[in-house]
Amino acid sequence: MKGKNRLFGLTVLFLVGTLPAALWGTIYGRIHRCPVSRPVDPQRPMVALTFNDGPHPRYTPQILDILYERQVPATFFLVGKNLRAGRLLVQEMASSGHQLECHTYSHRELTGRSGEEIRREVELSQKALENILPGEEFHYLRPPYGSFTPKAEEWAGLSLVRWTLDSQDSLGKRGEEIYFKVLDEVRDGDIVILHECQETIDILDSLIQALEEEGYQLVTLDQLVENLPPEKRKDLPIYGGEAEF
Ligand SMILES: [Zn+2]
Repeated sequence: MKGKNRLFGLTVLFLVGTLPAALWGTIYGRIHRCPVSRPVDPQRPMVALTFNDGPHPRYTPQILDILYERQVPATFFLVGKNLRAGRLLVQEMASSGHQLECHTYSHRELTGRSGEEIRREVELSQKALENILPGEEFHYLRPPYGSFTPKAEEWAGLSLVRWTLDSQDSLGKRGEEIYFKVLDEVRDGDIVILHECQETIDILDSLIQALEEEGYQLVTLDQLVENLPPEKRKDLPIYGGEAEF
């Protein structure tokens, strides 16, 4: 009996001691990733994959794993009110070399809202980001549903950005439909809008592979803006701020 008790005690000790350590090891590894860093060749076609609505406890880790596995940088438009709960995911995004931008604090439509309200959306989001990543700043705001009225960018104090290719993954499409919509319509210089949802995750790896096989470099929004020739850059759906061309 004594022997059994000892064995039980040792097992408990082992589990209590090693499980948290293993868990922390996994988390530590994720938030200290080597950043994805690929030189961009301005002569070759390029596309920016952008993900809206994160961080999300179930979807974001899956997206981050696929991007990391493929060594592809992306741009995440984050909802400020989700940041605190997604602290580790935001750290992982940053350490992996992804670009983090703002998708408002509350995810409410900007149309019809006052300058003060819009400014507050950005300020609260910025504060939430700085609590996680001191010194980090948002430079772009993607308005929920892409809708905004004149002066919104002035009130937000950030450049507003929409997209050039809508995957329509927020419209309840099946993964296969999302995959073919993007591949059929993609062109050099596209900003592709995707959402953090299971249908997109299901095809993300194949989509990245197919885009790369067609010769596209996958880049962040900043890399796209920096490397596109001026005649293509001026057509990007970016409004206001330093990014206006
Ligand atoms: Zn959204």
